[in-house]
Amino acid sequence: MEYIIGRNENGTMVKVPQHCNSVSGRHVKITVDDHGCWALEDLDSTNGTFVRDDKGVFHRVYTKRISKDTIIRLGGGDSGSFVFTAGHLLAPAHDDYEYEFLQLKRMMGRQLEEERKKEKIMERNGWIAKFAGFAVIAICFVLDRLKVASVPPDLRYILISSAPVVMGVLFNGNAVSLKAVRRRREKVIVCPRCERPLSEFDVEHRQCSRCKAR
Ligand SMILES: [Zn+2]
Repeated sequence: MEYIIGRNENGTMVKVPQHCNSVSGRHVKITVDDHGCWALEDLDSTNGTFVRDDKGVFHRVYTKRISKDTIIRLGGGDSGSFVFTAGHLLAPAHDDYEYEFLQLKRMMGRQLEEERKKEKIMERNGWIAKFAGFAVIAICFVLDRLKVASVPPDLRYILISSAPVVMGVLFNGNAVSLKAVRRRREKVIVCPRCERPLSEFDVEHRQCSRCKAR
């Protein structure tokens, strides 16, 4: 099976919406062989063909082995570009996004799991930071009792008050990685038609609440 995708009217092409003026007349060829292997070939398009990686970043490609789930963009990313999932070519109707929403649902599941895991770590770290001051008091008390060392009151005060801050700095990496995971969600869990980020509700109900794609 071979699909030529572009803006030209003639032949057995897969046409893209008229407003996608970054797409060339004959932009890209996608083939599916008898073994179900997918491949893509840019047909010397003006604005290029791109595929999206796991982090939601698009990379320019010329020929590439792809899968049914590969997200492809025709054009440089402006409003005239056209984005679609390779498997969408098999959809019975052009405006049918059932397959994409099923994929998104699976991705959202994995995404939420990862976010919750990181949130739990953050919560635990928050408690550790809160109790760090008490830990300092306890250690000073024990050292004092065992006559190992007597921490002067001034130093003790500094240690107690700075402990939570120090712990916060040490745990900062987790906060940064949670933010990165959330940012990735905004890039990856997007509507297959209008490309705007989808909410959990949208994904659950398999419909974009903005453009109504479903
Ligand atoms: Zn949409």
